[in-house]
Amino acid sequence: MGRSSRPARPTSDPAAHPCPGGCGEQVPKRLLACRSCWWLLPAGLREEVMRLARTGPRVAHLGAVGDALLWYRANVRDGDLVDLVDGGPVDGQAGQVAR
Ligand SMILES: [Zn+2]
Repeated sequence: MGRSSRPARPTSDPAAHPCPGGCGEQVPKRLLACRSCWWLLPAGLREEVMRLARTGPRVAHLGAVGDALLWYRANVRDGDLVDLVDGGPVDGQAGQVAR
């Protein structure tokens, strides 16, 4: 079995992109958002993005990233959560255990 050697990457990634939270940070391509905006994401979305990043399939991961970007557009301005309407988050499944 062949082992592919990975080329070392420079620490400053030229493929950085602006943080989707609108905070003005530049984020490495491999990360979705800067640290502080990342933690604004609902736990469910965060876990989905991380899980699919590890396990794939890649297209599903891109879908989850797309969901997260939409969430940022709807819920975050300038790196801060916009005021949420009462009634709680509107993210699909509540993973509740019914007994
Ligand atoms: Zn940010």
